[in-house]
Amino acid sequence: MRPAILFPLYKPVTALPGLGPRLGKLAEKLAGPCVVDLLWHLPSGVIDRRFSPKIAEAPDGRVATLTVRIDSHAPPVNPRHPYKVRCTDATGVLELVYFHVKGDYLAKQMPVGKTMVVSGKVEWFHDTLRMPHPDAVVAVEDRDEIETVEPVYPMTAGLPAKTLRKAVRKALDDVPELAEWQDPAWLARKDWPTWHESIRRAHTPQDEAELSALSPWRSRLAFDELLSNQLALALVRLNQRKLAGRSIVGHGGLRRKVLDALPFALTSSQAASLEEIYADMAADRRMLRLLQGDVGSGKTVVALLAMLNAVEAGCQAALMAPTEILARQHAESLAPLCKAAGVNIALLTGRDKGRARQAVLDRLASGELHLLVGTHALFQEDVTFKDLALAVIDEQHRFGVHQRLQLSAKGRAVDVLVMTATPIPRTLTLTAYGDMDVSRLTEKPPGRKPIRTVTIALDRLEEVVTGIHRKVQEGERVYWVCPLVEESEQIDLAAVTERHAFLKATFGERIGLVHGKMRGPDKDAVMAAFAEGRLDVLVATTVIEVGVNVPEATVMVIEQAERFGLAQLHQLRGRVGRGDKPSSCLLLYDPQLTETARARLKTMRDTEDGFVIAEEDLRLRGAGEVLGTRQSGLPEFRLADLAVHGELLAAARDDASLIVNRDPDLATPRGQALRTLLYLFERDAAAKTLRSG
Ligand code: ADP
Ligand code: MG
Repeated sequence: MRPAILFPLYKPVTALPGLGPRLGKLAEKLAGPCVVDLLWHLPSGVIDRRFSPKIAEAPDGRVATLTVRIDSHAPPVNPRHPYKVRCTDATGVLELVYFHVKGDYLAKQMPVGKTMVVSGKVEWFHDTLRMPHPDAVVAVEDRDEIETVEPVYPMTAGLPAKTLRKAVRKALDDVPELAEWQDPAWLARKDWPTWHESIRRAHTPQDEAELSALSPWRSRLAFDELLSNQLALALVRLNQRKLAGRSIVGHGGLRRKVLDALPFALTSSQAASLEEIYADMAADRRMLRLLQGDVGSGKTVVALLAMLNAVEAGCQAALMAPTEILARQHAESLAPLCKAAGVNIALLTGRDKGRARQAVLDRLASGELHLLVGTHALFQEDVTFKDLALAVIDEQHRFGVHQRLQLSAKGRAVDVLVMTATPIPRTLTLTAYGDMDVSRLTEKPPGRKPIRTVTIALDRLEEVVTGIHRKVQEGERVYWVCPLVEESEQIDLAAVTERHAFLKATFGERIGLVHGKMRGPDKDAVMAAFAEGRLDVLVATTVIEVGVNVPEATVMVIEQAERFGLAQLHQLRGRVGRGDKPSSCLLLYDPQLTETARARLKTMRDTEDGFVIAEEDLRLRGAGEVLGTRQSGLPEFRLADLAVHGELLAAARDDASLIVNRDPDLATPRGQALRTLLYLFERDAAAKTLRSG
């Protein structure tokens, strides 16, 4: 249960002054539903209203606070014209300019002859200084109210900045004093203030420099957040370790048969990863391991051998893929190897219905089926295994932790191996998979040719088509990928259909089209035609992104490459270079390219190392963007910026593991404070694994 001391922070934002139901909705959209969310909404700028020049000295375009005499009011003759208030000081004339003024409140607020303090952005218009819609107008005796430094928050339309500032100020007033959860020695070394002081200072920057993510208070807050993340993962992991596992040790016979049937030897990182997996399976605790390997690094065969280990021990194994096409392809590529070993394998997807489906389920329940490959369909209620011991999940970023648990619930103490081809920077691996052990396939199978990558402006499209046509005449096969712009599938579809029609003029009947809106069987038919060489060119949206294997394809064209994430470009490029012929990747870009976009495309040209690409993407775009956090299931941080606070993450991880070793129940005084930290950052699930106390 959330500790009572945090209750004020978890009141709805509408509990704050000025945020009624309507503005409260906007604040909620901007920051989140609770008071604490507003606290995490840090300023992105400052306005220094202490700057108070004479009129003649006021610089154009700057915010200034001026002391002036109100000379006269000039209400507009025509309602479309502005209302003007003429003011002066010893050095010149200032005109306050207001549009859409109703009533006579200005005349009352600024009586002629009175000296007042006005603040706002000023601009020169001929030799008159103007201030359109002053931010503040007060009597001289109240000047202290406005001569301050004001935080500027990222805003949303319709929510007045002043209202938000006031609400945050109140939220800060209500911040409780919390017992220190950080190690005192570490705090001293970093020279960081308390949490309370940090949150207050983060909201009251005195100048631009204080907005830095590296300021002591922002660093402290970031570290608090990272520690809560790492501690939560460490606790979940500790808990999992406590769950009974089972020792799976196969006799090796099936694996030997498959290794003999393979036309190649395992790479050393495949062999090393397998050793780690076998050791996990043999241990009598549950395996939770992530196998990371670039596209084409050979994860499938690793998965197969791990599954055979389970089959040798008399159990079953399942392999789950994110899409129908992929599941099918896995099943097809594994079938001959399974046959060589005398292992029964079947495919189960959402498309299987009726009697055929029932037959698979029966064989699964009886144990006759050793391996089952499928999609989400594997989760369905009536899918029961005789004895599932290992679940392999391919392409993790499409599945959430929740689904991972669902599948492992289909058996007794199921070991879980998650495979991902999305190279994740080390720092992000820690935040997302801190509860998992990691194996990495760092080398590509031998014989791979490098892929030549070029970037070309889209206005040279005709040239590109001519070049591609020549390649096709030489017998090569080409992917042509159009971007997916998430806001509107209709527009995406229009773009890809139009491109297909345009290219058809050159490639005639030997060009195909696949996109996400097509029915499964139709999609498969087109993919199959391309795989079998009945089509030369395949125009596609990113449905081909994951896994599809057509070794004969040698050219990858990606249109509007700047719209894709680097990880995604890397995945797409990995679709070629799978055979023995040299391959190329053409990144077509919109000629109006931003600096960052340019740098990102350059990275693609310079390297084929997925991990380097991922690190670079993190550096250029920040964590939230790297994988598209929403689809990746990676945690989003409110205060930490991994591109900047990466080192703090490593420290947080070390600290978390120390804490869990020394005080696994969080029972010491610091442990108690850490519980509050977990709740503060809504890691309730992790906190709930603890005994109460
Ligand atoms: P991933 O799933 O990691 O993208 P795959 O498992 O599909 O990669 O493997 C890509 C290709 O490499 C497949 O054709 C596979 O047979 C082949 N392959 C896997 N391991 C090796 C190896 N050690 N030596 C040569 N080829 C390999
Ligand atoms: Mg794969």
